[in-house]
Amino acid sequence: MKEYYQLNNGVTIPAIGFGTFKAADGEEAYQATLAALKAGYRHIDTAAVYGNEESVGRAIKDSGLPREDIFVTTKLWNDAHSYEGAKAALAASLERLQLDYVDLYLIHWPNPKAIRDRWQEGNAQAWRYMEEALEIGLVRSIGVSNFLVHHLEALSQTAKISPAVNQIRLAPGCYQEEVVDYCRQHQIVIEAWGPLGQGDIFQNETMKALAAKYGKTVAQVALAWSLYEGFLPLPKSVHEERIIANLDFADIKLSEEDAETIKHLAGAAPVPDPDTKDF
Ligand code: NAD
Repeated sequence: MKEYYQLNNGVTIPAIGFGTFKAADGEEAYQATLAALKAGYRHIDTAAVYGNEESVGRAIKDSGLPREDIFVTTKLWNDAHSYEGAKAALAASLERLQLDYVDLYLIHWPNPKAIRDRWQEGNAQAWRYMEEALEIGLVRSIGVSNFLVHHLEALSQTAKISPAVNQIRLAPGCYQEEVVDYCRQHQIVIEAWGPLGQGDIFQNETMKALAAKYGKTVAQVALAWSLYEGFLPLPKSVHEERIIANLDFADIKLSEEDAETIKHLAGAAPVPDPDTKDF
């Protein structure tokens, strides 16, 4: 099982990351992040809009691990799609995280509602600052999230540096074929958000049967599948025993047939459409 991926700029990234969406700022996000680092995760995914950067940053500091051993991602939210907006947003994230740099900075959403008539320009301008931030060492790599092919194509019109990562919803039964193919062709590492179906997969009978077959948990099978596909999953939990158990899937050798079954699992939630979503 792969432990790292290499980004298109040579930076290595741990092949599994710890998700923190909906981990409440304060004790919950702090304890969960601390537990993840203790359990062996070396890659933490947060975002300005999660409102928990301060707690995540405190856990990183209190873990006692050397900064360079931890890969930290945060994201630019929908109120910052401009050059100055991106500059201020990154500075504020670094301040909250109490870090001098992040390893990966992502444009969280390609088409914010407020700039729906000019999202291409918004992304281009934010990206221009992100390229500068890379040059001056505030970030080690830059990427995007929830971008579909037309958003990636639009960005490529002005970008000097291509995105290293696209973080999209990918889970059993939720497979965004077109954008996955595009990213594979363009050396963009594909991160899987919601790799446990945001909780949906645990009651699924097919997933339960596969878990029984492999003698593992549903979460472990889903994560093994994500790696099998070459994705980089970001599972989230705030419970220490699950945080630990979710990492224990390296011994699963999925058959091609079972991987196909998981890919086409019925009943997965639809992918939110970034061009029409109400934020
Ligand atoms: P997920 O698929 O990781 O599911 C998380 C839920 O699964 C948890 O709330 C928990 O209830 C449950 N769970 C976890 N482990 C379990 C276990 N072993 N047994 C039973 N239940 C278990 O969903 P997510 O948190 O939405 O996504 C993962 C991460 O991806 C986020 O935390 C965040 O970092 C990132 N994310 C990014 C975006 C984006 O737009 N870029 C959107 C959503 C999430």
